[in-house]
Amino acid sequence: MNLTERIRKKIAQDGPVPLADYMALALGDPDYGYYMHKDPLGLKGDFVTSPEISQIFGELIGIWCAECWQQMGRPQIDVIELGPGRGTLMMDCLRATAHISGFHDAIRVHMVEMSPVLRKLQQQGLNGKHPRISWHDTLPETDRPKLIIANEFFDALPIRQFVVTEKGYCERMVDWRDNSFCFVAGENRNKLPGDYPPEPKGALPKGTIIEQCPLAQRVMMDIAQTLKTHGGAMLAIDYGYARAPHMLTAGDTVQAVYEHAYHNVLEHPGKADITAHVDFTTLADIARSMGVEAAPLMNQRDFLLKMGGKMRMEQLCRHANSKEQQERITQSFGRLVSREEMGTLFKVLAVTSGIKAPVLGV
Ligand code: SAH
Repeated sequence: MNLTERIRKKIAQDGPVPLADYMALALGDPDYGYYMHKDPLGLKGDFVTSPEISQIFGELIGIWCAECWQQMGRPQIDVIELGPGRGTLMMDCLRATAHISGFHDAIRVHMVEMSPVLRKLQQQGLNGKHPRISWHDTLPETDRPKLIIANEFFDALPIRQFVVTEKGYCERMVDWRDNSFCFVAGENRNKLPGDYPPEPKGALPKGTIIEQCPLAQRVMMDIAQTLKTHGGAMLAIDYGYARAPHMLTAGDTVQAVYEHAYHNVLEHPGKADITAHVDFTTLADIARSMGVEAAPLMNQRDFLLKMGGKMRMEQLCRHANSKEQQERITQSFGRLVSREEMGTLFKVLAVTSGIKAPVLGV
Protein backbone atom coordinates (compact mmCIF):
# COMPACT_ATOMS: atom_id res chain seq x y z
CA MET A 1 0.00 0.00 0.00
CA ASN A 2 1.17 3.56 -0.64
CA LEU A 3 -0.26 6.87 0.58
CA THR A 4 -2.52 7.36 -2.44
CA GLU A 5 -4.10 3.96 -1.74
CA ARG A 6 -4.34 4.66 1.97
CA ILE A 7 -6.20 7.96 1.42
CA ARG A 8 -8.38 6.37 -1.31
CA LYS A 9 -9.39 3.65 1.12
CA LYS A 10 -10.26 6.21 3.79
CA ILE A 11 -12.40 8.14 1.29
CA ALA A 12 -14.11 4.93 0.14
CA GLN A 13 -15.00 4.19 3.79
CA ASP A 14 -15.84 7.64 5.18
CA GLY A 15 -16.52 9.79 2.11
CA PRO A 16 -14.56 12.87 0.94
CA VAL A 17 -12.08 14.27 3.49
CA PRO A 18 -11.50 17.95 4.33
CA LEU A 19 -8.40 19.44 2.67
CA ALA A 20 -6.81 19.75 6.15
CA ASP A 21 -7.04 15.97 6.67
CA TYR A 22 -5.57 15.30 3.24
CA MET A 23 -2.72 17.76 3.93
CA ALA A 24 -2.09 16.27 7.39
CA LEU A 25 -1.71 12.80 5.87
CA ALA A 26 0.37 14.00 2.90
CA LEU A 27 2.84 15.67 5.29
CA GLY A 28 2.64 13.58 8.43
CA ASP A 29 1.40 10.03 7.71
CA PRO A 30 3.72 7.94 9.91
CA ASP A 31 4.76 5.66 7.02
CA TYR A 32 4.53 7.76 3.87
CA GLY A 33 4.10 11.39 4.95
CA TYR A 34 6.37 13.89 3.23
CA TYR A 35 8.25 14.95 6.37
CA MET A 36 8.49 11.43 7.72
CA HIS A 37 10.83 9.89 5.19
CA LYS A 38 13.06 12.49 3.59
CA ASP A 39 15.21 15.55 4.13
CA PRO A 40 13.34 18.10 2.02
CA LEU A 41 15.84 20.94 2.34
CA GLY A 42 18.68 22.20 0.21
CA LEU A 43 19.68 22.09 -3.44
CA LYS A 44 19.18 18.32 -3.66
CA GLY A 45 15.85 18.55 -1.86
CA ASP A 46 12.66 20.39 -2.74
CA PHE A 47 13.09 23.85 -1.24
CA VAL A 48 15.64 26.09 0.45
CA THR A 49 15.03 28.13 3.59
CA SER A 50 16.69 31.28 4.95
CA PRO A 51 18.99 29.58 7.49
CA GLU A 52 20.20 27.25 4.72
CA ILE A 53 20.95 30.22 2.47
CA SER A 54 22.98 32.38 4.85
CA GLN A 55 24.45 31.87 8.32
CA ILE A 56 23.62 35.52 9.06
CA PHE A 57 19.93 34.60 9.46
CA GLY A 58 20.41 32.30 12.46
CA GLU A 59 23.12 34.52 13.92
CA LEU A 60 20.82 37.55 14.03
CA ILE A 61 18.02 35.49 15.57
CA GLY A 62 20.50 34.38 18.23
CA ILE A 63 21.36 38.02 18.97
CA TRP A 64 17.63 38.84 19.08
CA CYS A 65 17.09 36.09 21.67
CA ALA A 66 20.05 37.25 23.77
CA GLU A 67 18.68 40.82 23.76
CA CYS A 68 15.30 39.55 24.96
CA TRP A 69 17.03 37.60 27.72
CA GLN A 70 18.98 40.66 28.83
CA GLN A 71 15.76 42.71 28.97
CA MET A 72 14.19 39.97 31.07
CA GLY A 73 16.96 40.39 33.64
CA ARG A 74 19.06 37.39 32.56
CA PRO A 75 16.91 34.61 34.10
CA GLN A 76 17.11 30.84 33.51
CA ILE A 77 15.08 30.31 30.32
CA ASP A 78 14.01 27.79 27.70
CA VAL A 79 14.90 28.44 24.07
CA ILE A 80 12.47 26.49 21.92
CA GLU A 81 12.59 26.03 18.16
CA LEU A 82 9.49 24.81 16.33
CA GLY A 83 10.17 22.82 13.13
CA PRO A 84 13.96 23.20 13.15
CA GLY A 85 14.65 21.54 9.75
CA ARG A 86 18.32 20.53 9.65
CA GLY A 87 19.12 22.39 12.87
CA THR A 88 21.15 25.00 11.00
CA LEU A 89 19.37 27.99 12.54
CA MET A 90 20.01 26.71 16.07
CA MET A 91 23.68 25.98 15.31
CA ASP A 92 24.19 29.53 13.99
CA CYS A 93 22.19 30.94 16.89
CA LEU A 94 24.34 29.13 19.48
CA ARG A 95 27.62 30.04 17.77
CA ALA A 96 26.67 33.71 17.54
CA THR A 97 25.76 33.93 21.22
CA ALA A 98 28.65 31.90 22.66
CA HIS A 99 30.51 35.09 23.66
CA ILE A 100 27.51 36.65 25.47
CA SER A 101 28.43 36.26 29.10
CA GLY A 102 26.05 33.97 31.01
CA PHE A 103 23.63 33.29 28.13
CA HIS A 104 24.56 29.68 27.39
CA ASP A 105 24.60 28.86 31.09
CA ALA A 106 21.09 30.26 31.44
CA ILE A 107 19.42 28.38 28.58
CA ARG A 108 17.98 24.98 27.93
CA VAL A 109 17.38 24.26 24.25
CA HIS A 110 14.24 22.43 23.11
CA MET A 111 13.67 21.24 19.56
CA VAL A 112 10.07 20.49 18.53
CA GLU A 113 10.24 18.20 15.50
CA MET A 114 7.83 15.67 13.98
CA SER A 115 10.21 14.23 11.39
CA PRO A 116 12.48 11.35 12.45
CA VAL A 117 14.80 12.05 9.52
CA LEU A 118 15.24 15.73 10.40
CA ARG A 119 15.51 14.95 14.12
CA LYS A 120 18.50 12.75 13.36
CA LEU A 121 20.16 15.47 11.27
CA GLN A 122 19.54 17.99 14.05
CA GLN A 123 21.06 15.64 16.61
CA GLN A 124 24.15 15.08 14.45
CA GLY A 125 24.60 18.79 13.74
CA LEU A 126 24.08 19.94 17.30
CA ASN A 127 26.11 17.18 18.92
CA GLY A 128 28.45 18.82 21.43
CA LYS A 129 27.19 22.35 20.68
CA HIS A 130 25.26 22.75 23.96
CA PRO A 131 25.04 20.61 27.11
CA ARG A 132 21.24 20.80 27.47
CA ILE A 133 19.33 20.07 24.26
CA SER A 134 16.21 17.91 24.14
CA TRP A 135 13.69 16.90 21.47
CA HIS A 136 9.88 16.96 21.66
CA ASP A 137 6.81 16.18 19.54
CA THR A 138 4.93 19.25 20.73
CA LEU A 139 5.60 22.47 22.63
CA PRO A 140 7.13 21.38 25.96
CA GLU A 141 5.35 22.45 29.14
CA THR A 142 7.81 24.01 31.55
CA ASP A 143 7.58 26.66 34.23
CA ARG A 144 10.41 28.85 32.92
CA PRO A 145 10.24 31.93 30.68
CA LYS A 146 10.56 31.02 27.01
CA LEU A 147 12.01 32.31 23.78
CA ILE A 148 10.26 30.51 20.94
CA ILE A 149 11.56 30.57 17.37
CA ALA A 150 9.61 29.37 14.35
CA ASN A 151 10.96 29.80 10.82
CA GLU A 152 8.76 28.29 8.10
CA PHE A 153 6.90 26.22 10.70
CA PHE A 154 3.39 27.67 10.67
CA ASP A 155 3.14 27.39 6.86
CA ALA A 156 3.55 23.61 7.13
CA LEU A 157 0.43 23.14 9.26
CA PRO A 158 -2.72 21.74 7.58
CA ILE A 159 -5.36 24.25 6.56
CA ARG A 160 -9.09 24.13 5.89
CA GLN A 161 -10.60 26.01 2.97
CA PHE A 162 -14.16 27.31 2.62
CA VAL A 163 -15.71 28.45 -0.64
CA VAL A 164 -18.25 31.28 -0.52
CA THR A 165 -21.59 30.15 -2.03
CA GLU A 166 -25.00 31.78 -2.44
CA LYS A 167 -26.20 30.12 0.75
CA GLY A 168 -23.09 30.41 2.92
CA TYR A 169 -19.88 28.39 2.79
CA CYS A 170 -18.87 24.96 1.55
CA GLU A 171 -15.74 23.33 2.90
CA ARG A 172 -13.34 22.19 0.16
CA MET A 173 -13.12 18.41 0.42
CA VAL A 174 -10.90 15.91 -1.37
CA ASP A 175 -12.55 13.03 -3.21
CA TRP A 176 -11.29 10.24 -5.49
CA ARG A 177 -12.91 10.18 -8.93
CA ASP A 178 -11.78 8.92 -12.37
CA ASN A 179 -8.51 7.61 -10.96
CA SER A 180 -7.35 10.83 -9.35
CA PHE A 181 -7.95 13.06 -6.35
CA CYS A 182 -10.16 16.09 -6.95
CA PHE A 183 -11.81 18.86 -4.94
CA VAL A 184 -15.53 18.59 -4.22
CA ALA A 185 -17.86 20.83 -2.24
CA GLY A 186 -18.80 19.78 1.29
CA GLU A 187 -22.11 20.54 2.97
CA ASN A 188 -23.34 24.10 2.99
CA ARG A 189 -23.01 25.92 6.31
CA ASN A 190 -24.14 29.44 7.07
CA LYS A 191 -21.31 30.35 9.42
CA LEU A 192 -17.57 29.80 9.39
CA PRO A 193 -16.46 27.49 12.22
CA GLY A 194 -14.44 28.99 15.08
CA ASP A 195 -13.60 32.63 15.72
CA TYR A 196 -10.86 33.18 13.11
CA PRO A 197 -11.03 34.57 10.53
CA PRO A 198 -14.07 36.54 11.66
CA GLU A 199 -17.36 36.35 9.77
CA PRO A 200 -17.22 38.68 6.71
CA LYS A 201 -19.08 41.97 7.21
CA GLY A 202 -20.52 42.23 3.67
CA ALA A 203 -21.20 39.67 0.97
CA LEU A 204 -18.08 38.24 -0.64
CA PRO A 205 -18.05 37.29 -4.32
CA LYS A 206 -19.23 33.73 -4.95
CA GLY A 207 -16.30 31.37 -5.28
CA THR A 208 -14.02 33.32 -2.92
CA ILE A 209 -11.83 30.97 -0.89
CA ILE A 210 -11.35 31.59 2.83
CA GLU A 211 -8.58 29.72 4.62
CA GLN A 212 -8.33 28.66 8.24
CA CYS A 213 -5.50 26.86 10.05
CA PRO A 214 -6.93 25.31 13.24
CA LEU A 215 -3.59 23.79 14.30
CA ALA A 216 -1.74 27.11 13.94
CA GLN A 217 -4.45 28.69 16.07
CA ARG A 218 -4.07 26.02 18.75
CA VAL A 219 -0.27 26.32 18.78
CA MET A 220 -0.55 30.12 19.04
CA MET A 221 -2.94 29.76 21.97
CA ASP A 222 -0.54 27.42 23.79
CA ILE A 223 2.34 29.80 23.15
CA ALA A 224 0.38 32.87 24.30
CA GLN A 225 -0.71 30.97 27.41
CA THR A 226 2.80 30.00 28.47
CA LEU A 227 4.21 33.47 27.64
CA LYS A 228 1.45 35.08 29.68
CA THR A 229 2.17 32.81 32.66
CA HIS A 230 5.97 32.62 32.57
CA GLY A 231 7.07 35.54 30.35
CA GLY A 232 9.20 35.60 27.22
CA ALA A 233 8.75 36.01 23.48
CA MET A 234 7.99 34.26 20.22
CA LEU A 235 9.56 35.12 16.88
CA ALA A 236 7.74 33.63 13.87
CA ILE A 237 8.99 34.13 10.33
CA ASP A 238 7.07 32.86 7.35
CA TYR A 239 5.47 33.34 3.97
CA GLY A 240 2.34 35.11 5.00
CA TYR A 241 0.04 38.08 5.04
CA ALA A 242 -1.72 40.58 7.24
CA ARG A 243 -5.47 40.68 6.67
CA ALA A 244 -6.86 44.14 6.06
CA PRO A 245 -10.13 44.64 7.99
CA HIS A 246 -12.15 44.51 4.76
CA MET A 247 -10.17 41.60 3.30
CA LEU A 248 -10.83 38.36 5.12
CA THR A 249 -8.72 36.19 2.95
CA ALA A 250 -5.71 36.01 0.70
CA GLY A 251 -7.59 33.48 -1.47
CA ASP A 252 -6.25 30.02 -2.24
CA THR A 253 -2.63 30.00 -1.03
CA VAL A 254 -2.05 26.25 -0.83
CA GLN A 255 0.88 25.12 -2.91
CA ALA A 256 2.99 22.04 -3.38
CA VAL A 257 6.68 22.07 -4.28
CA TYR A 258 8.81 19.21 -5.56
CA GLU A 259 12.46 19.63 -6.57
CA HIS A 260 12.17 23.43 -6.50
CA ALA A 261 9.19 23.48 -8.92
CA TYR A 262 5.45 23.76 -8.34
CA HIS A 263 3.57 20.49 -8.16
CA ASN A 264 -0.13 19.60 -8.20
CA VAL A 265 -1.31 19.51 -4.56
CA LEU A 266 -3.56 16.52 -5.28
CA GLU A 267 -1.00 14.42 -7.16
CA HIS A 268 1.17 11.81 -5.42
CA PRO A 269 0.53 12.83 -1.78
CA GLY A 270 3.70 12.42 0.29
CA LYS A 271 6.01 13.22 -2.61
CA ALA A 272 5.89 17.02 -2.52
CA ASP A 273 5.92 19.59 0.25
CA ILE A 274 2.56 21.29 0.78
CA THR A 275 2.30 24.68 2.44
CA ALA A 276 -0.10 27.59 2.80
CA HIS A 277 0.57 31.26 3.50
CA VAL A 278 0.31 32.17 7.16
CA ASP A 279 -2.55 34.41 8.29
CA PHE A 280 -0.49 36.54 10.68
CA THR A 281 -3.44 38.73 11.60
CA THR A 282 -5.17 35.73 13.16
CA LEU A 283 -2.03 34.75 15.11
CA ALA A 284 -1.59 38.33 16.37
CA ASP A 285 -5.30 38.62 17.26
CA ILE A 286 -5.18 35.37 19.24
CA ALA A 287 -2.07 36.54 21.12
CA ARG A 288 -3.65 39.90 21.98
CA SER A 289 -6.93 38.28 23.01
CA MET A 290 -4.97 36.21 25.52
CA GLY A 291 -3.28 39.21 27.08
CA VAL A 292 0.17 39.22 25.48
CA GLU A 293 1.65 41.78 23.09
CA ALA A 294 1.92 41.30 19.33
CA ALA A 295 4.26 43.70 17.54
CA PRO A 296 3.29 45.10 14.14
CA LEU A 297 4.22 42.72 11.32
CA MET A 298 7.55 43.51 9.64
CA ASN A 299 9.13 42.36 6.37
CA GLN A 300 12.06 39.98 6.68
CA ARG A 301 14.17 42.58 4.83
CA ASP A 302 13.55 45.33 7.36
CA PHE A 303 14.00 42.97 10.28
CA LEU A 304 17.37 41.60 9.13
CA LEU A 305 18.71 45.04 8.17
CA LYS A 306 17.59 46.62 11.45
CA MET A 307 19.22 43.76 13.34
CA GLY A 308 22.55 44.74 11.74
CA GLY A 309 22.64 42.17 8.95
CA LYS A 310 24.56 44.37 6.53
CA MET A 311 27.31 45.03 9.08
CA ARG A 312 27.62 41.31 9.76
CA MET A 313 27.78 40.63 6.01
CA GLU A 314 30.61 43.16 5.60
CA GLN A 315 32.45 41.66 8.56
CA LEU A 316 32.18 38.16 7.04
CA CYS A 317 33.42 39.54 3.71
CA ARG A 318 36.45 41.13 5.35
CA HIS A 319 37.41 37.73 6.76
CA ALA A 320 36.70 35.81 3.53
CA ASN A 321 39.55 33.92 1.86
CA SER A 322 38.70 34.77 -1.73
CA LYS A 323 36.72 37.08 -3.98
CA GLU A 324 34.40 34.14 -4.80
CA GLN A 325 33.67 33.61 -1.14
CA GLN A 326 32.93 37.32 -0.70
CA GLU A 327 30.53 37.15 -3.62
CA ARG A 328 28.80 34.13 -2.16
CA ILE A 329 28.35 35.88 1.19
CA THR A 330 26.98 39.04 -0.45
CA GLN A 331 24.69 37.16 -2.81
CA SER A 332 23.22 34.88 -0.19
CA PHE A 333 22.47 37.69 2.25
CA GLY A 334 21.12 39.68 -0.73
CA ARG A 335 18.64 36.86 -1.37
CA LEU A 336 17.27 37.05 2.16
CA VAL A 337 16.64 40.79 1.93
CA SER A 338 15.71 41.07 -1.77
CA ARG A 339 12.79 43.44 -2.37
CA GLU A 340 11.36 41.21 -5.11
CA GLU A 341 11.38 37.91 -3.20
CA MET A 342 12.27 36.66 0.25
CA GLY A 343 12.83 40.11 1.74
CA THR A 344 9.21 41.10 1.27
CA LEU A 345 7.32 37.79 0.88
CA PHE A 346 8.51 36.69 4.31
CA LYS A 347 7.10 38.46 7.34
CA VAL A 348 8.20 38.55 10.96
CA LEU A 349 5.79 38.44 13.88
CA ALA A 350 6.97 38.97 17.45
CA VAL A 351 4.74 38.14 20.39
CA THR A 352 6.00 39.16 23.82
CA SER A 353 5.05 39.21 27.47
CA GLY A 354 6.85 41.46 29.93
CA ILE A 355 9.44 42.76 27.42
CA LYS A 356 9.62 44.88 24.28
CA ALA A 357 10.54 42.92 21.14
CA PRO A 358 13.99 44.08 19.97
CA VAL A 359 13.70 45.95 16.64
CA LEU A 360 10.03 44.95 16.18
CA GLY A 361 8.36 46.36 19.28
CA VAL A 362 7.12 49.92 19.00
N1 SAH B 1 12.82 25.86 10.22
C1 SAH B 1 13.54 25.07 9.25
C2 SAH B 1 12.69 24.05 8.51
C3 SAH B 1 11.42 24.51 7.85
S1 SAH B 1 10.52 23.18 7.09
C4 SAH B 1 14.28 25.97 8.30
O1 SAH B 1 13.99 27.16 8.28
O2 SAH B 1 15.14 25.48 7.56
C5 SAH B 1 9.28 22.80 8.29
C6 SAH B 1 9.77 22.14 9.54
O3 SAH B 1 8.67 21.95 10.41
C7 SAH B 1 10.38 20.76 9.36
O4 SAH B 1 11.41 20.60 10.30
C8 SAH B 1 9.19 19.84 9.65
O5 SAH B 1 9.57 18.54 9.94
C9 SAH B 1 8.58 20.58 10.82
N2 SAH B 1 7.16 20.32 11.09
C10 SAH B 1 6.13 20.41 10.22
N3 SAH B 1 4.96 20.15 10.85
C11 SAH B 1 5.25 19.90 12.14
C12 SAH B 1 4.48 19.58 13.31
N4 SAH B 1 3.16 19.45 13.24
N5 SAH B 1 5.13 19.41 14.48
C13 SAH B 1 6.47 19.54 14.55
N6 SAH B 1 7.25 19.84 13.50
C14 SAH B 1 6.67 20.02 12.31
